[in-house]
Amino acid sequence: MPTPSKRQNRSSQALSLILVGMRGSGKTTVGRMLALKLDVPFVDTDDLVEERAATSIEAIFRDQGESVFRTLEQEAIASLEKPHEILVVATGGGAVLDPGNRRILAALGTVVFLDAPAQILTRRIRGSQRPSLLKLNLDEEITVLLDRRRPLYMDLADFVLDATEPVDHIVAAITDIWLADRTAVDRTRQPKGT
Ligand code: ADP
Ligand code: MG
Repeated sequence: MPTPSKRQNRSSQALSLILVGMRGSGKTTVGRMLALKLDVPFVDTDDLVEERAATSIEAIFRDQGESVFRTLEQEAIASLEKPHEILVVATGGGAVLDPGNRRILAALGTVVFLDAPAQILTRRIRGSQRPSLLKLNLDEEITVLLDRRRPLYMDLADFVLDATEPVDHIVAAITDIWLADRTAVDRTRQPKGT
């Protein structure tokens, strides 16, 4: 007997789309457009954290530190467990570090990793108000974080998409994945790849 895959274990309700990847990979931009197109609610876990904390992520990192942020992020992700409707979920770049987060995200539906090289991520986020996690310059920080997290994104993802493509191409590709999933929710797990 083959080991049951995540897909086979999922209930037919688990049709949400979960976007994972580094900051700057386009999770918020793609997620918003995708949710509009599919006519389902869009949830950004970074927004949930800011609502709960009633302050910005930048301020949480600065005043309370990363561990407080991670706890708030865990609570935000836990609040999405067993949703009553299909969602498009954008996650924070570090959400996949926590095994409990990974389990909840995987159970929600189809996980899509938006993959982009460090150089492009750096270019996209330079100048924005983003908390620094390591005391390194931006290029080095992104390179180190990507090396550390990429195996986790790859492991969690049902699909890996090239995040350097135009946003509307990415949205179209994820729409196709979602429509195929809807018509075959209990199909065995797809090979990874685009
Ligand atoms: P994340 O939520 O993953 O941190 P964002 O959606 O905030 O990423 O995108 C970061 C920046 O990169 C934004 O300025 C956005 O307009 C830009 N961006 C996102 N996706 C693309 C893309 N596919 N091509 C070009 N620019 C993009
Ligand atoms: Mg975002």
